[in-house]
Amino acid sequence: MPDTSSHRRKPSTVSIILLLLLIAAGAYIMIQHEKGRRSSADSREGSEQTDATVTPALPSGHDTTLADLGNRPDWSTLDLWQETITREDFLRLLTEVYTVDDTWKRYIEVYADHAIIRTDTRKQDMSYRLNFAHSLSDASPHRNWNAAGDLAPGTKEKPLAGVHIAIDPGHIGGEFAKTEGRWFQIGDNAPIKEGEMTLATGKLIKKKLIALGAKVYLVRGSNKPVNPRRPAFYRDAAVAKSRSLGKLDEETIQQFQNKFFYRTGEIRERARRVNLAFSPDLVLCLHYNAEAWDDPTNPTLTSNNHYHVLLHGALTREEIAHDDERFEMLVKILQQTHDEEKPIGMYVAHALGLTTGLPAYEYTSESTRAIRIPDVPGLWARNLLANRLYQCPVIFLEPYVMNNQDVHDRVQLGIYEGTKTIHGAEKKSIYHEYADAVVLALKEYYLAHRIIYQSEDD
Ligand SMILES: [Zn+2]
Repeated sequence: MPDTSSHRRKPSTVSIILLLLLIAAGAYIMIQHEKGRRSSADSREGSEQTDATVTPALPSGHDTTLADLGNRPDWSTLDLWQETITREDFLRLLTEVYTVDDTWKRYIEVYADHAIIRTDTRKQDMSYRLNFAHSLSDASPHRNWNAAGDLAPGTKEKPLAGVHIAIDPGHIGGEFAKTEGRWFQIGDNAPIKEGEMTLATGKLIKKKLIALGAKVYLVRGSNKPVNPRRPAFYRDAAVAKSRSLGKLDEETIQQFQNKFFYRTGEIRERARRVNLAFSPDLVLCLHYNAEAWDDPTNPTLTSNNHYHVLLHGALTREEIAHDDERFEMLVKILQQTHDEEKPIGMYVAHALGLTTGLPAYEYTSESTRAIRIPDVPGLWARNLLANRLYQCPVIFLEPYVMNNQDVHDRVQLGIYEGTKTIHGAEKKSIYHEYADAVVLALKEYYLAHRIIYQSEDD
């Protein structure tokens, strides 16, 4: 039997430079943190003054050329990928996967052997030149993760040996479930909290993947935020954002403060953990879908129930105009992440359809925010903060509609082994059904896409 544990992780300049980049981003966050602490101390002192009209000093303002809480990228990092992608692959990924219309042409000019990319939308003359690979044989993406084909051989019993997988249970749950809008309750039933359901599912998946040989990390292991900061820290950023929208009322400011805490800041913090601490080959972002339920204490129920799986892509014209989002998209294109992400996504979408028996969700034709990935139902590309920032293939799962009556009732039964009768049908616990679909997909994927040694008794 081969020793797969001695397999060396892909090294390298890429990880080191990405690491430096992220440390720089972290340093920036810490500086902002210090600033936040200072300004909250200032305003405490201010509140002891009698003059209530004193306005605390505001930051320089909301930078509309960056995504919320985004950092200005260091474009020289792209030097790693000089002459590593062909013009054909670059254009294929850019136009078929990552953008929804032609507005990318405002920022990227493609010539015979190079592209000129605008690096700062505020300045016309700031650009980066990327040279294409001369031929397919020259092309080889630098990656800080391993595709299945790059891994040392696995075995039939341990087809995931040496595969590093991070599981990201979506949202937070616990005392934060109401703030993050992922909570509802019907009568005296146990409340539905997405952040707790995703964690329960993640723990099951972790156990099952370890049994197949994978090294598995949970991005969070409890119903608490990974983000150490709280809404008050984001006060200045929320004021600046509200001001940029011309809606400087207290309600809007507080909405942004909360959102920057539980969503934007939380996901950016998880990205630091994923990219710096785990550096995985694959991330699974676990979610349960829902349709609008309006009043969480008297929720609207729906007869709809479905699944879908998201890959990264489909940047809108507003998103590609952000310098950091354009940069992050280019890193994905240059690492050719989609070419690994897509086949894994196909296995996962297929297994979810098979295991749950649910129909695939369809985005409406007017939706410019999603691109259909052909060949398998329920597989789409969308630009989400998590699947853009996590620097490896990311599979983002959205099975089940939580405010569907059947799903609600299955959640009430909790986690159990075997099956129980519900509405006249024998069903596994919803958590096991979800986990089994994911584990089946990954097992089949790695069996088919890496070298598998036969075991000794074959
Ligand atoms: Zn979710």
